[in-house]
Amino acid sequence: MLERVGHTPLLRMERVGREYPTAEFYAKAEWFNPGGSVKDRAALSMIREGERTGALRPGKTILDATSGNTGIAYAMIGAALGYPVMLCLPSNASAERKRILSAYGADIILTAADEGSDGAIRRARRIHASSPQRYFYPDQYSNPANWQAHYHTTALEIWEQTEHSVTHFVAGLGTSGTFVGTARRLKELNPEIQCISLQPDEAFHGLEGWKHMASALVPVIYDARVADRDLVIQTEDAYRMAKRLAREEAMLVSPSAAAALVGCLQVAASLDQNKHERAVIVTIFADAAEKYLNERFWDESEGS
Ligand code: PMP
Repeated sequence: MLERVGHTPLLRMERVGREYPTAEFYAKAEWFNPGGSVKDRAALSMIREGERTGALRPGKTILDATSGNTGIAYAMIGAALGYPVMLCLPSNASAERKRILSAYGADIILTAADEGSDGAIRRARRIHASSPQRYFYPDQYSNPANWQAHYHTTALEIWEQTEHSVTHFVAGLGTSGTFVGTARRLKELNPEIQCISLQPDEAFHGLEGWKHMASALVPVIYDARVADRDLVIQTEDAYRMAKRLAREEAMLVSPSAAAALVGCLQVAASLDQNKHERAVIVTIFADAAEKYLNERFWDESEGS
């Protein structure tokens, strides 16, 4: 299973975005990872680094706070390698997520819904502080092995799969590991590549996995200087795009993946049409729609 982490397909949009004839749109289909999301990369990297340094040894429990996908990744990898896993998550995480985590054998500690992921982070810190010998606390918000996973894998895959033609890299910010790690490496490979980060437009949003940095605990690994631009995305636009992606591209993806493509279209709209500026715009589709199928927007007709 763990050998299947990474090396995801790069899919080209065939219909969405055709109003921008000088732009090509591609997405890394991260739901092809064995745990179902981009976070398999970061979780595996942090666990392997923990083993390398000795911070993680047989007998220790992997402990962290996660809004979902990282937890699923820890639970899957913990099951593969034989480590117990304990996760703090907000109580309003969906029933499917809790079911997936417990199916892999993880222990779940629920924290107050109105405190969001920050409440879960504070609880994990307290548990770790109370018994540091018992737990391996990767702390995905502060752990360099999170962004380094993307520096060593995601960026190189994009570089190879586009045959070095990528001009723009666009990704949403959660822990920021995906954006920071991938952008750092792409900039080294070709400093001309424009790197654009995306955020929700307000603190209360429906883009699960993304952070509104102005109102959140800012991750230690986040480095705003890596971004050439930072754009904001509205949840409603992402919901509309999720439905379009299913119907027009046969890709059933999460709201955060759809939001990433909304960001790519914003980038395409800013290209210099007079100069026929060409662009190869690459983004990350963090996960598929399965975990979000209970959300009501799938039923709402356009314009309602
Ligand atoms: N989308 C989804 C669905 C996620 O779960 C995450 C991870 N929190 C992200 C995007 C953002 O990834 P990162 O933590 O690497 O910024």
